[in-house]
Amino acid sequence: MRHGGLLVQGGYVVRTGPLEELRRCYPEAEVVHRGKALTPPVVNAHTHLDLSTTPRFQGPYPAFIRHVIAHRSSRTPAAVRQGLAELQKNGAGAFGDIAYNLEGAAWLVENSPLPGVVYLEVIHRNPQEAEAVASRLAHLVARLQRRSRRLRVGLAPHTPFNVSPPLLKRLSELAQKEGFPLQMHVAESPEETELLTQGRGALQAIPQSLGLPPYQDLPGLTPVRYLAKLGVLGPHLTLVHGVQVDEEEVQMLAQSGSRVVSCPRSNAALDCGEFPWALYLKHGLEVALGTDSLASSPDLDVRNEALALWGKVDPRVLVRAATRSGYRTLGLETPRITRGTPVSQVQSW
Ligand SMILES: [Zn+2]
Repeated sequence: MRHGGLLVQGGYVVRTGPLEELRRCYPEAEVVHRGKALTPPVVNAHTHLDLSTTPRFQGPYPAFIRHVIAHRSSRTPAAVRQGLAELQKNGAGAFGDIAYNLEGAAWLVENSPLPGVVYLEVIHRNPQEAEAVASRLAHLVARLQRRSRRLRVGLAPHTPFNVSPPLLKRLSELAQKEGFPLQMHVAESPEETELLTQGRGALQAIPQSLGLPPYQDLPGLTPVRYLAKLGVLGPHLTLVHGVQVDEEEVQMLAQSGSRVVSCPRSNAALDCGEFPWALYLKHGLEVALGTDSLASSPDLDVRNEALALWGKVDPRVLVRAATRSGYRTLGLETPRITRGTPVSQVQSW
């Protein structure tokens, strides 16, 4: 609602509606302006809490990947704890987190007071081992899920190039069969498209510099077309970023029921381009927002992602992205502000 208001009495919302109407009905009530929006607690649908103590990087995406690899020892449960504390300080209502290692994920499922999803990151390129790796991961998801207090457990195949095609297919089948969610970085950088379509570029140089085999048998397709061909798109999959897409690919995503999370400040910091909001909205996709990690974003407050786009994208779309779309993306009920809602559960922007 544009120009809306809440009537508050004794710490509770008594009525909601257009500000003018509330003023007319309650002429003695004091009017307190609270910034740009009043919403339920916002949702950070994509972050990496274990990168909370890694120095922040700005520059091209392939150099960022090298930066993260160089600082991998900083990804500890202590970093996860620090990131979670920041989310709570910001008043987040839920979150989706990518966990690089099992220790951090285990700490989170046992300790997080916030609901959401923790996705275990998967990087595995040997197609011969796909079947064994997939069943091991599915068992791990089930085991962690049993220990979890508030979080659902899922998997995060890192990118279309860091997981072998048979493993990606198998994880997608298992996710649908066993009902766990997947989240994956897709169509993030121009370099990703260059690697997948032409097999070369700055990303191809990374495994070689680490003494690993080069990326091989690349599909010769753009990221979303590749995933569509493999048959892994669908409501069980949340794509993160989706910047490097054309209209036909956005249509493929819409028809498949896949979910989408945008991280605008991280995309800007890593020279990845701008998320095409108009295309996604034209095809009826519901987009959630995430901050990505503190290694590429200045903070974990998803309101600041929306505010970075204020004036460029309809504010109602941004508010919805940070609230309802976030809850839905994570499979949670969206809280509502209504008569009886404690005012402590209303977030101002
Ligand atoms: Zn990410």
